[in-house]
Amino acid sequence: MDVLCLGELLVDMFPSEVGVKLIEVSSFRPKPGGAPANVAVAIARLGAKSGFLGKVGEDLFGRFLKSVLDKEWVDTRGLKFDAETRTTLVFIALPDANAAEFVFYRNPGADTRLRPEELNLDLLQSASCLHFGSLSLTDEPSRSAAKYAAETARASKTIVSFDANYRPTLWDSAEQAKQKIMEVIPLIDLIKVNETELALLTGETDLSKGTSILQSQGPPICIVTLGAKGSFFRTVEATGFEPAFQVNAIDATGCGDAFIAGLLTRLTSGCEWQYQLSQERMQKNLQWANAVGALTSLKIGVIPALPTAVQVRDFLEKQNLGSFYD
Ligand code: ADP
Repeated sequence: MDVLCLGELLVDMFPSEVGVKLIEVSSFRPKPGGAPANVAVAIARLGAKSGFLGKVGEDLFGRFLKSVLDKEWVDTRGLKFDAETRTTLVFIALPDANAAEFVFYRNPGADTRLRPEELNLDLLQSASCLHFGSLSLTDEPSRSAAKYAAETARASKTIVSFDANYRPTLWDSAEQAKQKIMEVIPLIDLIKVNETELALLTGETDLSKGTSILQSQGPPICIVTLGAKGSFFRTVEATGFEPAFQVNAIDATGCGDAFIAGLLTRLTSGCEWQYQLSQERMQKNLQWANAVGALTSLKIGVIPALPTAVQVRDFLEKQNLGSFYD
């Protein structure tokens, strides 16, 4: 197993039109979603082995979501069903290509009900990487399950990756979100934030200073995704910015999930991940991840838009950036 993703698998209710606010959307269509689930599918599309740990409701939506992951070759042995709560739903609007509005139906949703003792430890210990995000930290018992998974993975020398993925309406306050996220930072090797999340967690808008603060709390790799501008990284030995590719984006939902999937497939391929962190290699890793993100912005929805490794290679070949293989 290359990457095991833990967290929310849910139904995104996508708007039938873009360019309008949530209350003006004329109809919604159910689509599979949830950031860690998107990452698991993205990894499988890119040709690596992925698995999913999480919980859905024992309902039609939950069964549908499992069938989607199975069809995408994601290992679902760690997916649980809850008879008492419904599968989480999220209503989405896309007022413009780079902004989204969300309303979560999750009071509670099945994804928050994953318990530590339900984790499939065999899968956890066999994975090269564990990836999760802050939606697992908003409520108990999923918060304890996520922490237990991170601790178990760390003890097995598995790389632990975390996406801050801050959704303000899921928290009592920004301060609470910050506190719960900062509690897991010492357990992780890689943190991915956007500019808003960097400011929330560090009080800094300067990329270099902000990532330096995050790194001082533990993770040797800090990544900031910058939407249509590109991405920034800090490792122990290097920092750098990689511009985004110019594409005709129509829906940026899921670009961050695609980006991190691209980066994790690079870090878990071949040699130990620590050797992937030099300036030169990280620059290539971010170019690859930027390409996976850019290609995902070309279609509405997340899973239908995720590219295969061949599509990423074809796209990069046209950009004349030199070889991505060594
Ligand atoms: P997040 O969901 O984490 O906020 P971003 O929106 O920053 O993620 O997108 C992740 C990555 O996807 C960016 O760093 C960039 O490489 C790529 N990307 C996102 N939007 C665009 C766009 N409009 N054009 C080109 N690339 C994009």
